[in-house]
Amino acid sequence: MAGQANPFESLQEQIDDAAAFLDAPQGVVTRLKNPERVLETNLTFELDDGSLETVRAYRSQFNGDRGPYKGGIRYHPGVTRDEVKALSGWMAYKCAVVDIPYGGGKGGIAIDPADYSEAELERLTRAFATELRPLIGEDRDIPAPDVNTGQREMNWIKDTYETLENTTAPGVITGKALDSGGSEGRVEATGRSVALAAREAFDWLDRDVAGATIAVQGYGNAGSVAAALLDDLGADVVAVSDSSGGIHAPDGLDPRAVKNHKAETRSVSGYGDAEPITNEELLTLDVDLLVPAALENAIDSDLAADVRADVVVEAANGPLTPDADDVLADKDVYVVPDILANAGGVTVSYFEWVQNRQRFYWTEERVNEELERVIVDAFDRLVDSYETNEAPNLRTAAYVVAIDRIVDAYDQAGNWP
Ligand code: GLU
Repeated sequence: MAGQANPFESLQEQIDDAAAFLDAPQGVVTRLKNPERVLETNLTFELDDGSLETVRAYRSQFNGDRGPYKGGIRYHPGVTRDEVKALSGWMAYKCAVVDIPYGGGKGGIAIDPADYSEAELERLTRAFATELRPLIGEDRDIPAPDVNTGQREMNWIKDTYETLENTTAPGVITGKALDSGGSEGRVEATGRSVALAAREAFDWLDRDVAGATIAVQGYGNAGSVAAALLDDLGADVVAVSDSSGGIHAPDGLDPRAVKNHKAETRSVSGYGDAEPITNEELLTLDVDLLVPAALENAIDSDLAADVRADVVVEAANGPLTPDADDVLADKDVYVVPDILANAGGVTVSYFEWVQNRQRFYWTEERVNEELERVIVDAFDRLVDSYETNEAPNLRTAAYVVAIDRIVDAYDQAGNWP
């Protein structure tokens, strides 16, 4: 990966940039730049050979002014306290920009899950859920999947919580399997909002996403679904990559066939007769749309200088450093920010939670329709903020909308004597 920026410092810079457009007092801005609380815990669990291992885990509750803390849990060796703090802040602003009634939170365990058996991961996940139990709850803090976690881990956390609390509370976590109270459309939701945001952005720029060439960096749940849905809209996905490298086919790839290839071989590399390319080459390809869908800091200012795409739609959280943002804005590259573009995941998490609370389940068609409405409305509001504030870029415009909503909720709550 290109940059080494501290994601928490990047988040704070993004808030400062947006606060310049608002007349919020400095004390309020400082509050908006820092998490309310962070749990740091050492989890001890048993390995299959009977020995014990201890690993570091975190949960950051960034802001709860608009509702329960909400956000995923990731398993990745790069997890740090500052990364989790940043990701929790991005969740608070994400929920505000799409106007769903949640605050922001995020958790992580600093491990490579590939190093452990399924039974070991289950014991570790249940140990984390036990630590989290006093902090989480259907109306308190609602975790979800993130990098390297999915339905399996969510089901374990739900079961641990419900067992310890002696109740049923499916809304304590989202991203569950359908039979455990999950929602139709949740797995595809992040990629779906990326495709919708790209469609809206092209439309706004008087361009058509049909026929546009696209490169996607990262081929996990977000990247692979976005690629498939953009292909359905008539776009040409010409390059994709994952952590082991990329593939390039100027005439277009079949995103679903590439996904099957990755499912069989664990990598997109070696698919068909596509040319191999590096991640860096992919990020600087001359395409209409670039979708970074991997991790933070994929594009720093040096790499941004070489980006040739016209539009960037962020599927990952924090893939651009603030310096990269400035370089791209100078080059008139439009960046649809993560807090809107990938908000489909948390939006359908919200729908899942609503269904759990009502014990009444929706069709996939209804989920997708409601999601489209949320993303299109948020995009319209973003463009309005960009134009009326004469903001330097779409990210700052999005933060202005989000901060405004959080500050309103905070003000309306009044003072506690
Ligand atoms: N991990 C996802 C995100 O970064 C989804 C969070 C959620 O559904 O709560 O937005």
